[in-house]
Amino acid sequence: MIDRKHCEDLDRRDALARFRERFLLPEGVIYLDGNSLGPLLKSVPERIRQVVEREWGQGLIRSWNAARWIDLPQRVGDKIARLIGAERGEVVAADSTSVNLFKLLSAALSLQRGRAVILSERDNFPTDLYVAQGVRDQLGGRHEIKLVDASGIRDAIDDKVAVVMLTHVNFRTGARHDLSAITAAAHAKGALVLWDLSHSVGAMPLALNASRADLAIGCGYKYLNGGPGAPAFLYVRRDLQDRIRPPLAGWMGHREPFAFVPDYAPAEGILRNLCGTPPVLAMAALDAALDLWAEVDLDALRAKSMALAGLLIALVEGQGASLGLTLATTRDPEQRGSQVSFAHPEGYAVMQALIARGVIGDYRAPDLIRFGLTPLYLRYVDVFDAVAILADILRHRRWDQAEFKRRAKVT
Ligand SMILES: *Cc1c(COP(=O)(O)O)cnc(C)c1O
Repeated sequence: MIDRKHCEDLDRRDALARFRERFLLPEGVIYLDGNSLGPLLKSVPERIRQVVEREWGQGLIRSWNAARWIDLPQRVGDKIARLIGAERGEVVAADSTSVNLFKLLSAALSLQRGRAVILSERDNFPTDLYVAQGVRDQLGGRHEIKLVDASGIRDAIDDKVAVVMLTHVNFRTGARHDLSAITAAAHAKGALVLWDLSHSVGAMPLALNASRADLAIGCGYKYLNGGPGAPAFLYVRRDLQDRIRPPLAGWMGHREPFAFVPDYAPAEGILRNLCGTPPVLAMAALDAALDLWAEVDLDALRAKSMALAGLLIALVEGQGASLGLTLATTRDPEQRGSQVSFAHPEGYAVMQALIARGVIGDYRAPDLIRFGLTPLYLRYVDVFDAVAILADILRHRRWDQAEFKRRAKVT
């Protein structure tokens, strides 16, 4: 059995432990949901206050230039580029993940005329599938969306596939695709690849350039801690950028937005993928949250993420089968992202009971309780304490109360 003292020792030796104090974590909470909404960094409220009071309040419209608001999408994008193995000028922050997917999927299909298949995974995040259906309908229903199981992706890539559209880490199970192998397999058949990195960015090192990945999108409010509804990002490999015809052609993606000419002409490079005015307050929060990452060794982050997940699984299994949990995440650390999920027939109520005790994870239908493992602010003792509370709740059926079974709008 692993005891608490062993976890304290791990924390003492943890090179990432110093980052915890940068976050404003509420007293009495063990936060295992940073994969859904990252917590608040202490640097963010100060930055927001400055942007609101000084840049907006005093600077007014002058701040578009003086405070360089206009460059925020690119500046924020450049900070994200390092986290995904891309170069400056290959990433912009804009819109939401769903909207960025619409933009890049539409663009990919127009680069691949003569090919009609969008290949994806049946268990992909639903918004990704919905957006693909919307794009298909928008383009007149000429495309086919082919959905297969994760294990069947590579075999399903043939010369009819225009784009392979996948989420790198599965939101339910945490299963992780081999990004470079699938990218290579797609390229071998002439297909493009569009990766959704929502559950990967800020959780592990990524190597988009080294893998020759074509297109990617990802989320700003999960592991990047950009705040609720933070802007998302998109990546286009440099040599593809000038071939993209943006489906949402707006003035912020125009070659000369302030020439106010009637005809659209796309900006050079990544900027053409912008559409409208950036949300400055939200961008500023994400921008401030991203500064921390310059100090983070992503290999060390990944190693701790694997160790935390391994500890969680070992502690739960150490409690014996009587808890009634079924591990839904692979045991192979290489094949998972930074979360661990367990199935339980009363998963929703179990999670509400946990939250009532200060252990915040989340529930994903139909029966999964999900724990995100975020190495910058989680301690090994947090995992130990969370499992002790989970075991108590399950062993004594403390979840079996009406108040824990009432469904809220957001789960
Ligand atoms: C979180 C997430 C999204 C979120 O999309 P929004 O447009 O921000 O609502 C999209 N795709 C995946 C895979 C996600 O995990």
